[in-house]
Amino acid sequence: MSRVIVVGGGAAGMFAACTAALYGHEVTVIEKNEKTGKKLFITGKGRCNMTNAAPVGELMDHVITNPRFLHSAFAGFNNRDFLLFCEEHHLPYKIERGERVFPESDHSSDVLKMFSNAMEELGVTVLLHTKVTKLLVRDGMVAGVEAEQNGRKDKMKADAVILATGGLSYPVTGSDGDGFKFAKELGHHVEKLRPALVPLTCKEADLCRELMGLSLKNVTLKIFDSDSLITQGFGEMLFTHFGISGPIVLTASSVITGKAFPMRAEIDLKPALSEEQLHTRFLREFSSSPNKAIHNVIGALYPSKLVPVILRISGVSPEKKVNEVTQEERKSLVHVTKHFPLTVTGTRGFEEAIITHGGIDTREVNPKTMESRLVTGLFFAGEILDVDAETGGFNLQIAWSTAFAAASHIEYC
Ligand SMILES: Cc1cc2nc3c(=O)[nH]c(=O)nc-3n(C[C@H](O)[C@H](O)[C@H](O)COP(=O)(O)OP(=O)(O)OC[C@H]3O[C@@H](n4cnc5c(N)ncnc54)[C@H](O)[C@@H]3O)c2cc1C
Repeated sequence: MSRVIVVGGGAAGMFAACTAALYGHEVTVIEKNEKTGKKLFITGKGRCNMTNAAPVGELMDHVITNPRFLHSAFAGFNNRDFLLFCEEHHLPYKIERGERVFPESDHSSDVLKMFSNAMEELGVTVLLHTKVTKLLVRDGMVAGVEAEQNGRKDKMKADAVILATGGLSYPVTGSDGDGFKFAKELGHHVEKLRPALVPLTCKEADLCRELMGLSLKNVTLKIFDSDSLITQGFGEMLFTHFGISGPIVLTASSVITGKAFPMRAEIDLKPALSEEQLHTRFLREFSSSPNKAIHNVIGALYPSKLVPVILRISGVSPEKKVNEVTQEERKSLVHVTKHFPLTVTGTRGFEEAIITHGGIDTREVNPKTMESRLVTGLFFAGEILDVDAETGGFNLQIAWSTAFAAASHIEYC
């Protein structure tokens, strides 16, 4: 048995604690908040999309940063294993569109309850309101932590420390970067931290404000760096007062975060139709009501909020009768529909980011065990690592898999 200290009682920390205790270690979780799992509580809009039921072999395809580093962790503990853990701990779950897995009750609080019950049953000690201020290392080996509670600092001995302090996203939940500071003090390199799975800001602020609240379904978003396509996604997006958000925007943000802005973006509002088919569609609509004003006729093709915007960008007067619309104007309407232009000026900040891009350099971490290559007995788990994935439950699966890899490889003293 070893004395294990888990720093951070988030998703990765709680699961690491359960696993280490199951492996027979004496485990203490240190959490600075008044309760564990503050971020887990708000995941999936309070429903907690706790993993994704995609075939195990496809998990890595959904990881954006350093997928290969996670190969062993996924092989050791995958989404099926997590669902088995839920079953063993009496948490019923359901699988929704896109293989997203949620607790059957739709309450993230049930996932939290599962962990607190499991930690209690397994004899894990949880210290709340306690902030780790330093990692203690002797002769290249972890020796414990220094922690502060009620203004008093104490040293706590440990044979192994699992650092699961999260990233920088949603700092109100407690993940404000302490772990990076500790790791840097021990010589670890931290890959530049950037907000990811985050809304994007656009130069066309007035236009975005005009369309604020408009959600577009089944559209394609493309983002270009100069003229080369950097990323594209199909699905749902949303206009906001500063730019764009929604599932396909969040996924795109993880690919473009850190690149040079501004970037050109295009929305294909009718991806199911070719330009030719769209021309034919316009002609059909136009011929059925030749004397009507164009803004009334094209209402059948777009959400009403979008109609004046499309006409303005296409250079067509909204009051123009459709039988007066020139071929050039029709071409312009088709072009704007297939290439609705936006200029991405950057991402929103960590306060709105679902995940952090960057983190502990994975080259300095053993991918099988999550142990530091610089300090023996120091392990990493969760968002602190330089790995991140798409939405859909994949980021929490990374937390479970890396936590399991770390906790199951702690040596017995
Ligand atoms: C709004 C939102 C919704 C999300 N929804 C989903 C979703 O549905 N599905 C999904 O897969 N992912 C989702 N994510 C991402 C997911 O929440 C994270 O990937 C996951 O929580 C990372 O777990 P972690 O344990 O590494 O970090 P965290 O959950 O952030 O936990 C870190 C913990 O460490 C503690 N801590 C930090 N420093 C110290 C210190 N010095 N001393 C003691 N304690 C410390 C913090 O207080 C915190 O409790 C969402 C994220 C956000 C922000």
